[in-house]
Amino acid sequence: MSTSELGGTALPQERRIVTEIPGPRSQEIEARRTKAVAAGVASSLPAYVVAAGGGILKDADGNQIIDLGSGIAVTTVGNSNPRVVERAAAQLSAFTHTCFMVNPYEGYIELAEKLNALTPGGFDKRTVLLNSGAEAVENAVKIARAHTGRDAVVVFDHAYHGRTNLTMAMTAKAHPYKAGFGPFAGEVYRAPMSYPYRDNDAAGTKVSGEDAAKRVMTMIDKQIGADNVAALVIEPIQGEGGFIVPAEGFLPALVEYARANGIVFVADEVQAGFARTGKMFASEWEGIEPDLVTTAKGIAGGLPLSAVTGRAEIIDSVGAGGLGGTYGGNPTAVAAALGAIEAYEQDDLVARALQIGEIITERVVRLQTEHPEVGDIRGRGAMQAIELVARDSIEPNPDLAKAVAAYAAKNAVLVLVTGTFGNVLRFLPPLTISDELLNEAFDVLEEAFADALG
Ligand SMILES: *Cc1c(COP(=O)(O)O)cnc(C)c1O
Repeated sequence: MSTSELGGTALPQERRIVTEIPGPRSQEIEARRTKAVAAGVASSLPAYVVAAGGGILKDADGNQIIDLGSGIAVTTVGNSNPRVVERAAAQLSAFTHTCFMVNPYEGYIELAEKLNALTPGGFDKRTVLLNSGAEAVENAVKIARAHTGRDAVVVFDHAYHGRTNLTMAMTAKAHPYKAGFGPFAGEVYRAPMSYPYRDNDAAGTKVSGEDAAKRVMTMIDKQIGADNVAALVIEPIQGEGGFIVPAEGFLPALVEYARANGIVFVADEVQAGFARTGKMFASEWEGIEPDLVTTAKGIAGGLPLSAVTGRAEIIDSVGAGGLGGTYGGNPTAVAAALGAIEAYEQDDLVARALQIGEIITERVVRLQTEHPEVGDIRGRGAMQAIELVARDSIEPNPDLAKAVAAYAAKNAVLVLVTGTFGNVLRFLPPLTISDELLNEAFDVLEEAFADALG
């Protein structure tokens, strides 16, 4: 059987438990791994995958696991989506690499045109293609510094921007991302985030988006000086931080402040972008038009690719040769991205993300009525999460998150734990998952909560 017969849309869409998970074959491979692979690279569920598609991951023992992770919001169009496979395969046969900085090819231009048209804002735009999310964020900062002639970069509590030296400095969480890896890049300043579930003023009322934004402006004015700030970089919905959706009005107020002070506003849409939230980009939910948008994860159906897209006059501040990289905009990854974008547009995946969001919301609301440990339900579209706490308090409950994820894994459902406090379960299914599989996954999660809490 060829790979295309094994994975993608050909894979039977059913949960199947053949052995314990991980099974004997996966355990054999895992034993080799510990002798061959760096210990620093961890895996949430060491069931080794042999095929994937729709809402299913098939492992080396024949187990079929329901996928609520999409390889961390990457396979949003589904694994081995036919539109991605067809274009990438044709490109692989035509040529594999020239380096765009040596001999260019048309696909790069076509993708740049697409990204310029799809990202928020009707203004003249430019795009540079790179390999990873972190690399896109680094390049957004380079561009903002070149454009403004300023040094400072403002980021937020709970932020995640990557694992390179600059993006580690921009990322908030010490363990496991930063501890032991310093010293970090300078001129990175952390501002308070709007976190509605945990953000009350002295009188116990929720801090509004406007007031949370004022807190940021005061911090910048007093501690940095707005005229020293090159870029303000923010995830419109924070990913690794725990799917924190800032209070309404927070993002628009920051955009306005950035514009008034000549600061480049960068929306890091690496996790929230590409139909995931029920809009093509999460920035659209509040109608903001970032100066620069960084994209990666959902961009190319699983192939490594990222981009910075934004205002022409800002991006073109960098002269010829100032941006690039050997593999940036690799032709196969570009072809895959054109296939993925075709899928987002032709297969109504933005609408599908909203439907998935409705199903998840209904299920987690039901879960919350039974278990008050579900402290907060938040997210947009198919980017939903629940924050787990101790009963009758908002004390983070990472043990419960771990127990539920472990029970789910044993029962062939993959769910990812995240958040600054390790107490958030996030739901990021491929948009090609069926309603039946999605509901079945939540049946298992209900059992998991009952098992953990009695
Ligand atoms: C994953 C992520 C990154 C880093 O992307 P990599 O491809 O892992 O380098 C940056 N920003 C956000 C918001 C992310 O979720």
